Amino acid sequence: MTENAEDILKKEAWNQYEVESLLGLSDSFFENSVYPYAKQIKDKYIGPNVYYRGLIELSNICSKDCYYCGLRKGNTHLNRYKVTFDEVLEAAKKAISYGYGSICIQAGEISSPSFVEEITSIIVEIKKLPEYNLGITLSLGEQSFSTYKKWFEAGAHRYLLRVETSNINLYKKIHPDTLEHSFENRVQCLKDLRMIGYQVGSGMMVGLPSQTLSDIAEDLCFLRDIDIDMCGLGPFIEHPQTPFAKPLNILPLEDRLKLAFRSIALLRIIMKDINIASATALQAIDPEGREKALMVGTNIIMPNLTPRKYRSDYTLYKNKPCVDEEAFMCRGCLEGRIKKFHHNIGYNEWGDSPHFKNRILKK
Ligand code: SAH
Ligand code: SF4
Repeated sequence: MTENAEDILKKEAWNQYEVESLLGLSDSFFENSVYPYAKQIKDKYIGPNVYYRGLIELSNICSKDCYYCGLRKGNTHLNRYKVTFDEVLEAAKKAISYGYGSICIQAGEISSPSFVEEITSIIVEIKKLPEYNLGITLSLGEQSFSTYKKWFEAGAHRYLLRVETSNINLYKKIHPDTLEHSFENRVQCLKDLRMIGYQVGSGMMVGLPSQTLSDIAEDLCFLRDIDIDMCGLGPFIEHPQTPFAKPLNILPLEDRLKLAFRSIALLRIIMKDINIASATALQAIDPEGREKALMVGTNIIMPNLTPRKYRSDYTLYKNKPCVDEEAFMCRGCLEGRIKKFHHNIGYNEWGDSPHFKNRILKK
């Protein structure tokens, strides 16, 4: 079996069946063959730098009701907040003073004209900040083509929209059956973002209830086929105030973590030059989860810049780390951890996806 697997590992391209069979191989095969190979590919195509995206969790107000997420509108046990305009600018200035090359603005999904305008103004103001041209990633859910375009023209240049799962049947099981939770629309949004000119990120949750290895293999092939530039991929973690508080057919947390590492490593081998983020959810299961992920393929980390008073209300899942720490503490503790895992931090650089640059050059 292992000999055969070694042959598959070195093949130029894998089909979905091969990805599935690799995903299910032994721990020792991953430790001895897959992880070192993924790290070797990362060293060659990406290099030793980790790039930061200072994360601003702008608002936990959401118009959607995804079954897995603590921010869903049906969760009434949550103080809803929105970071003020001035506080966002403060956080962006902090990013500059810390030498973070980029920020990521994330929130629950809101599409009202006032929200769209507010985001546009925030982007414009951040772009005007002196000293440094901060890179801006957005993660604000599904929006119209014209909204995406407006934000791009204002100065945002990367967008992260996870597909969550590429299996439409599973997608339907983890979302309400309504028009605003449409798989087709989510995929259309990814196409729109690409057409507009963004660096496009997608990804999925690993270890969802009833999800199989075949589903995850399908996800990895989906990400390759739509040719993403960046990926955010992390384990699903239950949130007690959601319909998925105690789901059936779920793997233990450690196995979900393991599956996330395996998926990251295989994705790095499949899509050599993309940016892959170490999802915060990895850290919720293992305190060193994000740093360990660097050793199997990730190259982006998102230190939290959300003002502390809001942090404990941005609860996508339970045990979200760093909710009590101030931004500067996150900065200090992260740097030490990253160095322990033999990586440099690319301060004051955008750290764009090499894949994006390569695909633009090919045009
Ligand atoms: N509203 C936006 C961005 C915020 S949610 C959107 O949905 O795209 C950001 C990500 O958090 C989601 O894409 C999802 O993959 C992740 N997430 C939500 N609930 C989660 C959970 N219970 N466990 C792990 N990740 C979760
Ligand atoms: Fe809202 Fe995003 Fe959570 Fe869905 S995943 S409920 S869109 S914040």
